[in-house]
Amino acid sequence: MKIRSRLTLQFTGIFSVILLALLFVIYFLTQQMVRQEFSERLRSRALLRASLHLENQEIDQELFDSFVKKYLSVLKDEKYEIYILKKNKAFPEKNKRLNINNDILRKIIKDKEYYFIINNREYIGLFYDNRGESFLIVVTAVNDFGEKQLSNTVDILISIFIILVILVTIFGTLFSKRALIPIAVLTSKANSISASNLHERLTEVESQDEIAELAITINKLLSRLEESFDLQKAFVSNASHELRTPLTSIIGSLEVVLSRTDRTKQEYEDVLNSILSGSREMKDLLNELLMFAQSSIYKESNFKEEIRLDEMLFDASEDLKLKYHNAEIQIEFINLPDDADLLNVKGNRQLLLVVFLNLMDNALKYSNIKPIKCSLNFNLSGIEIKFVDQGIGIEKEELSKIFQPFYRAENGREKQGQGIGLALLDKILQAHKAKIKVESVIGIGSTFTLYFPIK
Ligand code: ADP
Repeated sequence: MKIRSRLTLQFTGIFSVILLALLFVIYFLTQQMVRQEFSERLRSRALLRASLHLENQEIDQELFDSFVKKYLSVLKDEKYEIYILKKNKAFPEKNKRLNINNDILRKIIKDKEYYFIINNREYIGLFYDNRGESFLIVVTAVNDFGEKQLSNTVDILISIFIILVILVTIFGTLFSKRALIPIAVLTSKANSISASNLHERLTEVESQDEIAELAITINKLLSRLEESFDLQKAFVSNASHELRTPLTSIIGSLEVVLSRTDRTKQEYEDVLNSILSGSREMKDLLNELLMFAQSSIYKESNFKEEIRLDEMLFDASEDLKLKYHNAEIQIEFINLPDDADLLNVKGNRQLLLVVFLNLMDNALKYSNIKPIKCSLNFNLSGIEIKFVDQGIGIEKEELSKIFQPFYRAENGREKQGQGIGLALLDKILQAHKAKIKVESVIGIGSTFTLYFPIK
């Protein structure tokens, strides 16, 4: 069910219930009034009968009826009965014209006056105690006029109810339609936006209502989507480009060697070595791309392992010494905690090793394997690890860009690399709630600093 229909239905429902309650109140008040008025009339009839009885003026029914017709309004099917009280018991004086049960008679004696209704007939009973003579008088009639009045009232109330409910439904539908027009406009515009026109935006109106807020929120979402979509596109084209380079070199080498058959063993060996290095480069890139693609699933909640950061420094340096045999990696501890467990962080060993290896590898690679220094400093706010090299350095304006995927600083392009490492380790560090900072001076060297907060 659409919001519009639901709103109209709910609104009409609530209105109907309130209206119904109001109409019931009106009906009951009218009924009370009609009964009140009729009981007054019965009462005056009873008083008249009683005074006639008291004065012992027994006139016959016909005479009384003609008197009533002449001077009083006629009550339909009017009857009366006088009950003489003997030992607190009421006996009909003449004949049993009215069949009133003893409980009601007792109630009349007790309350002195009692109004009641039996089978659409209205009765009033009065108790009289006049100089030792006690009697009851009960007068009854059918409230014909009152019943008609009531039934007319019911008809009018039902008509009012039906007309008002119809009006409320019509106006409710119109109003909800009008109120939801901006949403319909947003929906149709949002439906027209797809990957091909992601730059388009919803019209933002200058009001403070929720719909304007929704349009602004959706537009912000579109901007974020467009940004990540563009990044994605750039990422794919960069990745293809990076893969194409070693593939082109492999294909080129193969074509050269196949262009002649009389190759020496050495020539074949050279080609195979170049293919091997191209393939390794591709494998490294694919590994990094795979890790980068998976980086969105790195979550702190998945990290169960406790990892000692000082040990991680040693592990990474051992691994790198296998790659660069003459590498000099100095590890220094500036301040260590008394409790070595404070050097533990919760994380993923494999991923953290990628971070340490990448930073050490870059430090060596971009300094032509000059000695590098790694230091660990513990303080109460966290653990700080620095990787200091004496390499080519990075231009100031490029410092923030080197964490973007595939970005390679101008001065380091002749070194082998794909520009994925720092982007990847940035994601890994974010998942570990750690931060990275870089300082660099061209020709002097660079310092990458990691901050791990204490648990
Ligand atoms: P790669 O080294 O494969 O190019 P990275 O993402 O690790 O990719 O680094 C991105 C860029 O940052 C590098 O291309 C290089 O220009 C620059 N860079 C990173 N580390 C250093 C460093 N220690 N010294 C100088 N430049 C660096």
